[in-house]
Amino acid sequence: MPFSSPPANDVSERGLRVSDGHDAIAFGEEFGDLVALAARVADTPFAWIAFAEGDAPARVVARFGVDAGLDPQLLALPGTLDAEVPRLTVADAREDACFAGATLVAAYPGIRFLHAQVLLGENGSAIGTLAVADRQPRPSCGRDTLQALDRLAALGERLVERHALQRRNRIATQIMQAGFSAMIITDEDGQVTLANRAAELLFGMRGRRMRGMPVELLFPSQLQVDPVAASAWLHAADVDAALGRAPQARLRAFGPNGDVRTLEASRCTWQLGRGQGKAIILRDITDDLAQQATLRQLALYDALTGLPNRTALVETLTSHLEATDAPLSLALLGIDNFKTINDTLGHAAGDSVLQTTASRLRLALPASAHVGRFGGDEFGVLFAGIPDDEVGAHLDRMLLVVGEPMDVAGSPIHLEASVGVAVRAELNTEDSLPSASELIARADLALYKAKARGGRQWCRYDLGMRREVIERRMLEIELRRAFARGEFELHYQPQIDLASGLTFGAEALLRWRHPERGLLPPAAFLDVLAGSALANDVGRWIIRQACRDAASWPDVGGRPVAISINLFPGQVHETDLGEDVDAALLETGLAPERIELEITETIALNPDDNASRALAALRRRGVKLSFDDFGTGFASLSMLQRFPIDRVKIDRSFVRDMLDNRGDAAIVRSIVLISRNMELHVTAEGVENHAQAALLRGLGCNAAQGFLYSPALAPRAFDKWLAAQASDPVRAPWLAPEPQDG
Ligand code: C2E
Ligand code: CA
Ligand code: CA
Repeated sequence: MPFSSPPANDVSERGLRVSDGHDAIAFGEEFGDLVALAARVADTPFAWIAFAEGDAPARVVARFGVDAGLDPQLLALPGTLDAEVPRLTVADAREDACFAGATLVAAYPGIRFLHAQVLLGENGSAIGTLAVADRQPRPSCGRDTLQALDRLAALGERLVERHALQRRNRIATQIMQAGFSAMIITDEDGQVTLANRAAELLFGMRGRRMRGMPVELLFPSQLQVDPVAASAWLHAADVDAALGRAPQARLRAFGPNGDVRTLEASRCTWQLGRGQGKAIILRDITDDLAQQATLRQLALYDALTGLPNRTALVETLTSHLEATDAPLSLALLGIDNFKTINDTLGHAAGDSVLQTTASRLRLALPASAHVGRFGGDEFGVLFAGIPDDEVGAHLDRMLLVVGEPMDVAGSPIHLEASVGVAVRAELNTEDSLPSASELIARADLALYKAKARGGRQWCRYDLGMRREVIERRMLEIELRRAFARGEFELHYQPQIDLASGLTFGAEALLRWRHPERGLLPPAAFLDVLAGSALANDVGRWIIRQACRDAASWPDVGGRPVAISINLFPGQVHETDLGEDVDAALLETGLAPERIELEITETIALNPDDNASRALAALRRRGVKLSFDDFGTGFASLSMLQRFPIDRVKIDRSFVRDMLDNRGDAAIVRSIVLISRNMELHVTAEGVENHAQAALLRGLGCNAAQGFLYSPALAPRAFDKWLAAQASDPVRAPWLAPEPQDG
């Protein structure tokens, strides 16, 4: 068979599994030469190479003399060859039991002689077949031919390997090109052999120009910000010689726009001939660093005032405590009644107040003082290195600057502040390490104390404060237990109609029947109770108990007796007051009109939405509201107009002195006058003698409550009181006209 004109030397369109379309042609061409050579050395008219890797369908990569239409599955000689049976020679296929029936033998091309060799892949498994065949039977191939075919098969294997390698390289190069990190590969002479797109962008140079360039030239000259550092890093010894890993470094370079960029540089090396090949990878981390810095800024600074936040201030405090023994004190400043500003003027006004306060504090204090926003309306100031006895003057200044008039949304407002301060020198170093949290806790306590003393002042932490806190905490625990054991009682103080002398209502007043200390008035515990989480539960119980007791009271003078209930601020702001009152009404069947809720200024002055809605809804259902302790606080008479109530209770302090003090008498007179004009009822509290009662009656005051009539009575005693009144009101001693007291 003449080799010069192969009749059907065609090339598979698909090629090997490892190849893509482009690959197949080059691949097929090389195998085409190989099969032609095989046919030539074996002197056969047919030769082919088929691949059948794994479970994939067999493919004929190249064929010589065989029709292109022939099924590749047949040419792959399935099941005949594998790694254990690498060679097969069939002298006459027609006489062979295995092959006689095969299409290749029985039909076209009518093969008689067949010799096939297995092709092994990289991992030693069979991947394909190289076969030669003839229409004439032959005894064998002959030794020389067999050797030549062996070599051709080996060549075929290497071709497959080479193509697989090339493909891997191409993928690696594609990945490298697509990467965001700049990559430069150098040969053993230190010349650039490859630079990816990111490297082109970073160095502002085409890859073509970089190729062949000594990396020393490219690298330091382009990284002009730090040429020395760049060069030092490039030549530094590998940290891990075995793995070819170099130290990581941060290098700075001018970016294409002339801006300074920070690069994270890593490097790996490998042996190459006499020298080393290198890959240099540069990742631009400028944006990452900027983002980290923004996050840190956000984490450590208060967005509203621009001051360091609590976290930052605590960090500074901690590092000062650890680093030096210098004097250190922490002051916490709180704006008095800040909540009122927010509630009445709006949050924008509140924000503006905080910003102004921040800048005033900053300006008023020495540069060595660290000013920060501690949260809410609290500012923290760390006085580092300032002697303890000089700190007081700075605190005075802080109070002064915050107290100066502030322009908020065009109108001037006056603020007051309180400051608590704690000094490092007083931290007990024997018991505990002087921790930041301890200093903060002390300053916080001192601030609390300054506020409790009425604000507008600074207060320094002392040991008594700690004791007080502990005592309060213990009392809180005791109160919880007392409530659980049912040691609370309600006593009832009669409320007298001044015109008729009849009891028209009673105020429920809380008592604690202490197992050892006897009956305790609210003064002994109410402050702590009202400030604890227990208040809402106790408040709910008071409503229910008062309604239960009131439900059994008889009418007096033909009219039902009302029940006045005092509320804790938390009941109005935090709980569903309406629900609690409804539940009590439902359980006892009491008419809503018989309940009067007494609210104080703290409630009325800070009417959040929850409170206003709940109180308005209750009032619509007929429940009455009265304003307790009127005249003692900041509440003005004009407030009565805004807040929908039914009754004003004049505080005991005015009634007590009204006979001797003209001022107090005038206050009582005007409260009564205005209330009556607004059609509100007025009750005078703390009426202890006839003279007070007479004067009040003369002023037009409707009602009174006080020791003149009765102190608060235990439920049984109050029942008797009512029974007596109901049967014979005339016997009430205060009804008899009295001679004026001396
Ligand atoms: P308050 O609401 O002003 O109650 C009136 C207080 O004045 C009662 O003191 C009462 O015993 C006392 N009082 C009445 N008449 C006279 C008088 O003629 N002279 C004098 N010197 N005092 C008189 P109490 O019971 O010690 O209660 C003190 C405060 O504790 C109450 O003041 C109220 O604010 C609070 N409180 C009492 N019970 C409750 C309660 O059940 N719930 C709530 N939230 N607070 C309560
Ligand atoms: Ca009251
Ligand atoms: Ca009162």
